[in-house]
Amino acid sequence: MNLIVQKFGGSSVRDADRIRNVAGIIADTYKAGNNVIVVLSAQGDTTDDLIDKAHEISPNPSKREMDMLLSTGEQISIALCAMALEQMGIPAVSLAAWQVGIQTNRTYSNARIKRIDRERIQSELDRKKVVLVAGFQGVNRYGDVTTLGRGGSDTSAVALAAAFNADLCQIYTDVDGVYTTDPRIVPNAVKLPEITYDEMLELASQGAQVLHNRSVELAKKYNVNMEVVSSLERKPGTKVKEVANMEKTNIAGVAKDTSIARIALVGLEHTPGVAFRVFSLLGKGNINVDAIIQSIGREGSKDISFTLPRADVSEAVRLLEEQKSTLNFDHITVEDQIAKVSIVGAGMMTTPGVAAKMFEALYDANINIQMINTSEIRVSVLIDQEDADRAVKAVHDRFFGTGE
Ligand code: ASP
Ligand code: MG
Repeated sequence: MNLIVQKFGGSSVRDADRIRNVAGIIADTYKAGNNVIVVLSAQGDTTDDLIDKAHEISPNPSKREMDMLLSTGEQISIALCAMALEQMGIPAVSLAAWQVGIQTNRTYSNARIKRIDRERIQSELDRKKVVLVAGFQGVNRYGDVTTLGRGGSDTSAVALAAAFNADLCQIYTDVDGVYTTDPRIVPNAVKLPEITYDEMLELASQGAQVLHNRSVELAKKYNVNMEVVSSLERKPGTKVKEVANMEKTNIAGVAKDTSIARIALVGLEHTPGVAFRVFSLLGKGNINVDAIIQSIGREGSKDISFTLPRADVSEAVRLLEEQKSTLNFDHITVEDQIAKVSIVGAGMMTTPGVAAKMFEALYDANINIQMINTSEIRVSVLIDQEDADRAVKAVHDRFFGTGE
């Protein structure tokens, strides 16, 4: 008998019909003789609607109360789905995170899972029940509800799969797998039969929205057998694993991130310790910096530019301006009409010329590159936001053909 964790996203449970559809998939898995743990997200746009509701009351609600509010969305889904299963004659029980014992740290709105108690779920499985667990939520040591950050239900599912040593963790969504790029931008994007954890992690952190990146990190750490599948069509999805197709030379995909901005500090002193002071200040402010470029300016001065999430710009500027006299720079410029386009592929480590091929595609499309940054299996370029979709298409066509 296998243990399977199945996670269904918000669009897969958006209304009664979709919940019945999901219950059907769960019922089939159960009737095939498996133990099933199900993790659900909130229905449709529920989480966004709850955030709007909060802001009707307060511009700046406390994070504890936000988590109390947002965690209700997932509880609606699991209760409704348990009812749908009961209706089909399948024994089921829904459990909130505090009932399971999904223990997290204290950080409201972005909590990390520390431990999962197994007893309650195990005893329900032993009673031959399908166990439905509310995704996205946990409980901290004060017994208060926490949430895991937007998109966190994927992480709930993988954490449960790891804790129960599940044979398979299926992430059901409204797309049928991981594509070489967003099919809405490039219609000839193709579905990948498999992808490595590292590639998936890079794609997820570079803007591909299929999976919560912490879920992939966890899957890699605990070697969870993971797959992304469609809840609407029953066909094979994408397997996420340690090694995929060893001889593969092409890249795995192209990702776009339009939620970033660039800050430049102009006219810094060209003396030791400047970069250290700038970035430790930002680090203490919990601001995650991505690409960094330092250039030498006029008369021994230098400029430092870096990219960061657009949502953090005002806080970063505030911190830097506050220290203007100690950091000793001339002025700050902020550019937020930019985008990052990345290619990702494990084969890059052993195949020369991959970056050049990307740059050539951009050159042929007459797109100017402002910054470049790389990891072992990724090359990212910073470009004007208005060129972003064109760039994704040009680069994708170069690596995967035009499909014609
Ligand atoms: N409902 C939460 C969100 O919208 C968590 C999730 O869907 O994974 O972010
Ligand atoms: Mg999601």
